Amino acid sequence: MSMIKTPEQIALMREAGRVVANTLAAVRQAAGVGVTLRDLDALAAETIATAGATPAFLDYHPRWAAVPFPGVICTSVNDAVVHGIPDGYRLQDGDLLSVDCGAFLEGWCGDAAVSFIVGTPDPVDQALIDATDAALARGIEAARIGNKMGDLAYAIGGAARRAGYGLLADHGGHGIGRTMHAEPPVPNDGRPGRGIKLTEGLVIAIEPMLILGRKDDYYQDDDGWTLRSANGRRAAHSEHTVAITADGPLILTLP
Ligand code: MG
Ligand code: MG
Repeated sequence: MSMIKTPEQIALMREAGRVVANTLAAVRQAAGVGVTLRDLDALAAETIATAGATPAFLDYHPRWAAVPFPGVICTSVNDAVVHGIPDGYRLQDGDLLSVDCGAFLEGWCGDAAVSFIVGTPDPVDQALIDATDAALARGIEAARIGNKMGDLAYAIGGAARRAGYGLLADHGGHGIGRTMHAEPPVPNDGRPGRGIKLTEGLVIAIEPMLILGRKDDYYQDDDGWTLRSANGRRAAHSEHTVAITADGPLILTLP
């Protein structure tokens, strides 16, 4: 299928994105000390179903995964960077929680993620989250007609590296539409002027994944999904689904 969407298709993706944004907002609101990740997953399931949408992650089974993903959302706590499974873990004061959510509405997918502190923030963790959000903002700002993918990638990676953080190796964003993961890849680091041209109607998920310290390496947990920082330090993940339009970047995953 073409990577390029019509304005009508982008309008439909905006509605899918709204479901994702509302789900993330509900989960964030509920994510207090003592709440389990499974409680948050149930809330996400209910929010998505009430909107007439279906979860994109539940039973998602890419070739590389040993087992299908068992949750509606990914909940990645502290040293977990992405793909954390919502289990019986009870959130503790000061935990850094990243929540990733995908949903389909009328056949179109939205995908977004947010990181935040549960309870009392440690300033070091909050700075990491702020830098991740800033890297995402830089990437979105570069999602313009006339730029190349390398310009967008460099905007994300440069922001992260200048701020002194590591970027999760081998992982980045992706095209999105009728499927959650589509062409083209959207790297989190690159060289300006390289890669495909960004054209009107391209819709991409932009998702920086930053790790405290300058290291970028990781390992996969025994659960077959969770990616944890190799240095054991905390990580943050922020994501929006963004359409490239004649009027500039349009964030689809807002409430
Ligand atoms: Mg996502
Ligand atoms: Mg994504």
